[in-house]
Order: sequence, then C-alpha cells, then structure tokens
Amino acid sequence: MINFERMVGTVLDLVQLDSHSREEGRVAEYLVRALREAGCEVTTDDAGKAVSGVTGNVIARLPGRRPGIAPLLLSSHMDTVTPGRGVHPVRETDRIRSDGTTILGGDDKSGVAIILEIVRCLHERDDIVHGPLEIAFTICEEIGLLGAKHLDVSRLASREALVLDSSHATRLVTRAPYADRYTFRVHGREAHAGICPERGISAVRVAAQAIAAMPLGRIDPETTANLVIEDGPRPTNIVPNLCTIRGEARSLSEERLARTMESIRSCLADAAARAVVTLEGRQHRAWVEETCEREYDGYHIPDDAPLVRLVMSAARARGIPLETVAIGGGSDANVFNRKGLTAVNLGTGQRDVHTLWEWLDLADFRRAGEIVATCVQERAAA
Ligand SMILES: [Zn+2]
Repeated sequence: MINFERMVGTVLDLVQLDSHSREEGRVAEYLVRALREAGCEVTTDDAGKAVSGVTGNVIARLPGRRPGIAPLLLSSHMDTVTPGRGVHPVRETDRIRSDGTTILGGDDKSGVAIILEIVRCLHERDDIVHGPLEIAFTICEEIGLLGAKHLDVSRLASREALVLDSSHATRLVTRAPYADRYTFRVHGREAHAGICPERGISAVRVAAQAIAAMPLGRIDPETTANLVIEDGPRPTNIVPNLCTIRGEARSLSEERLARTMESIRSCLADAAARAVVTLEGRQHRAWVEETCEREYDGYHIPDDAPLVRLVMSAARARGIPLETVAIGGGSDANVFNRKGLTAVNLGTGQRDVHTLWEWLDLADFRRAGEIVATCVQERAAA
C-alpha cells in the first residue's frame, strides 16, 4: 500500500526543517498543510502556550469509511534534540545519515513520515476500508514529554494509540520504565582554602563521598540511575559551600525505583552527617536540600491486549518478525498510558539517536510503514 520513495522524500523534507524543542513551527506548518491535503480535519492545540513554544501539538482526524470500527491514534513527535539546526541528510543505499555536523532527526521524523504516508495512501485509495484515525504530532517530547503531557486526550475518540518512536521495526515496546528526576543541593561551609580550610566544610567533598557510595549506572536488569554535577565556574581558593547534583533514576518496577531513590537519599544524608566542624564551641554541619519529581510513569501492556495482537498480526501478515520488548527509555506512550489510553511504541528504523552519527535504517523504516498500513487495514477487517 505505501509508496516507499514518497515516504523517504517526506523524511528528507522533514529533517531539513529545524525543530528543536519549542521551535517546531516550520514542521507543524508543513504537517498541517500536508494533512489537510490528505483529507484530514486538522487543529493545533494549546500545548505550545503552556510550555512557551511556538506551536502546539498538531491533531488530525480522518473519518472512517465504515461505521463500527474503533478509532486508532497514531502519534510521533515533531521536535528533535540539539544540535539539530541546518541538517544536511545524506542518502545512501540502505540508510539516511546526517553529514556528521548535526543529529539527523530521524528521531522522530521517521515516525512522522510513516504516519503521513499512511494518511496519503488512504486518501488516494478509496478502495481501502478503514476505521477513524486520529493523529497527534506532539511537541517537546525530548524535554520531558511535554506536548503529550499537555494533550487533552478527552478530546480524542481513540482509546488505543500506536506511537512510532523507537529503533527496530522488529520490536514492539510494550513495557517501559517509571522515571524520577531529582536535584540535590549539598550545602557546606565557606572558608579560605589556604588560610583556614579547617573552618570550612567542602560541599563538593561531601557530594563526592555520597556519589561514590550511591547505586549508579545499571543497578539491576530493570533499574538505572545517572547524575551530573552542575555548578558554574568558582574560585579554587574558597572551600565550596555548595554542590548541586542533578540526576535521574528509572526502573520498570515502581517499587525498585522508590528503593533506588531512597538509597541515593541515604548516601547523601550519611555523607552530610559525617561532615561536621566545631567553631567557637558551635557545631556546623553539611545539609542537603532535595527536589524530586516523577518525570513519567511506566507501563506494561500484556501480549494478549487487543492492540498488541493487532500489531503482531499485521507484522506476521507482512512476514516481519516482531517481538514485544521492554526498554529503558520513556516516550509519549508513557504519558498516553498514564492518561488512560492503551499505547505501545513501534520502532521506525532510528539508530544511534541523539548523536552526530545518527542514521535511519531504510529497511526498518519500510517495515514499520508496512506494519502500520496493515494494522489500519486489519483493524477494519476484524
Ligand atoms: Zn523520540
């Protein structure tokens, strides 16, 4: 059904439209026009205002050709990570890559191009029976799934969503982690580093001792944590009274995530408790200030869920080996599930995303297009 060369042309167009998070305006305009030409009713929501971006999410509806078929939401995000301005895509036989000076932006313009291709095919081919389709091209996915978080799903008819935003078209993500993000500000005590360091408490040292004791990296098969130290340039002749730790922890298990956060907290508390100086009869201690928030909730959609069965069956019909997998990254699917939809995430051929050597695997890109096209047809046939 799909026109592969046209789909490649679309992704090449899209990656050349700059769209860092909050700056998705040109891509949104392109998509609004293309969706209208393909017979969709298109609106842009208010999410842009909520996040100080130039555009909201692009929402489109394509009516079904026969009543009684449950609507399906197809979704991909319009924004890219940096450096994503002035992308020069290079097409090779089996791939599209960037020229090495920017990311490619196949994350997630490959997903966007697939969805647009499906809609165009359905518009051209009046012999294909399909149910109602809804489309959400979201903003600001890369900076915290913000577009999806501000999407009003009560205005959608769909209860199921197929998100196109991961790597392999032979993997359907049905399980993804819970994630917390946190900032710890470790407070010490300033003193001249050469004259009287014993009167100070180095916040950097306290933080370092805590970090050395913390669970970090791959904690168990389902749990990870990472952090950075984020303080500006400072003089070296003063014992530092502040060290800011910013990080994240994720787990497929909400309980293990909570345990990891507890352990990170107690490492900091222990290190701070050990850092005491007594000056003129008075004790001074290091102390820790914390902000921690849930970035997104995880999900686990069982293999026998109707949506999973639909996608698996579509892949089988096309001879594509597809398996359900868990991943360690979040996507808009996390937010849609949290909001009560059933959402899974299919790979589109994205590779080495968020790097200057990002590329798009054209074989997988084609496979993903075929799977989605077949899903739409099988849904109507069921
Ligand atoms: Zn993405």
